[in-house]
Amino acid sequence: MSIQEAAGAAFRQAYGTEPAGFWAAPGRVNLIGEHTDYNDGFVLPFALPQRTIAAVGPSTDGRWSVCSTIAADPVTFGVTEPGEVTGWGAYVAGVVWALREAGHEVPPVRIALASDVPLGAGVSSSAAMESVVLTALIDVGGLDVPLEKRPAIAQRAENLYVGAPTGILDQSASIRCQEGRALFLDCRSYEVEQIPFDLAAEGLAILVINSNAPHQHVDGEYGARRKTCEASASALGVTALRDVSVPELPQALERLDDDVMRRRTRHIVTENQRVLDTVSLLRSGRVREIGPLLTASHASMRDDFEITVPQVDVAVQAALESGAYGARMTGGGFGGCVLALVDADRADACAAAVATAYEQHEFTAPTSWVAVAGPGATRL
Ligand code: ADP
Ligand code: MG
Repeated sequence: MSIQEAAGAAFRQAYGTEPAGFWAAPGRVNLIGEHTDYNDGFVLPFALPQRTIAAVGPSTDGRWSVCSTIAADPVTFGVTEPGEVTGWGAYVAGVVWALREAGHEVPPVRIALASDVPLGAGVSSSAAMESVVLTALIDVGGLDVPLEKRPAIAQRAENLYVGAPTGILDQSASIRCQEGRALFLDCRSYEVEQIPFDLAAEGLAILVINSNAPHQHVDGEYGARRKTCEASASALGVTALRDVSVPELPQALERLDDDVMRRRTRHIVTENQRVLDTVSLLRSGRVREIGPLLTASHASMRDDFEITVPQVDVAVQAALESGAYGARMTGGGFGGCVLALVDADRADACAAAVATAYEQHEFTAPTSWVAVAGPGATRL
């Protein structure tokens, strides 16, 4: 059964009727630019072929209902404030709340969700879920919300209703990415450039390796990184660390008296530059040459930002030893996925090399797939 069929079946089972339509929104991998989003910096995600699909139909009682193939019972709610709906239903109630907060009349609907985006693996199943619900509500209600304003609404749902202090990366990727493109996003202006990203034409592939490492301390550590970056920007007298350039970095570091703060700052400043360098190389078709930037990004996340875990470090090392041009953890960290840039005909060998390294370390086996840049949120 396809994901769309699963969503339709879940809808019929929960509500005893046919859905009026289907919407889809993807998970994402971030090619480069980690933790730069909430520092007003640059990111470069692309959409995964894995998507969350919503079967949607009108509500009969003026309330909203949502069910999911991962949870047996529908969650039903009326107009709510943050804190009133908890658990996985909060992502949906949060989107309704954030749309209403933005001044929109949100149509009451019934929703059934199905997804092949791995949950809690750092490829943003939460943003896929928010984005599909947001897009469906906008289309069904005929709401006037331009594409570039949508990610911030979904982000408010996650920040203020669910309570996760994430940046704008995930929702921007799920909503604004295009097939065959990587999304170069300025997280300050929300300006985007769609960068051609056809790896197959170059004989290349991005292998995504889910470390399957247990996610631990994610929210607390994420919030701590964010606080340190904000404190550093404030100590340096800038709006955000985006405003420090690589040539200015040595002087900026001298003005910070805390070593942790210095290392967090160095990661953000150098990572922003690596995004810009990656974009330049991709624009001029020098795709293989982004490899060292990916690997440098990983070292920076491991040593300066301290957000990796042994499973992702081992995956990166094994991928590089098997001949990858570059490899890095992708996503917020503390587990999640690694991506490796490989010759297309070496993808299986790379996945096997990582699996062997995991066996040697007695880690839970990884799961790997080749990711091709897919479309963003859409009506089906
Ligand atoms: P990630 O976004 O990296 O996958 P998060 O912890 O941010 O990890 O989000 C995962 C959570 O999102 C799940 O625990 C669940 O509450 C919710 N979620 C995501 N997709 C679905 C879905 N299809 N059905 C129900 N809940 C979902
Ligand atoms: Mg998430």
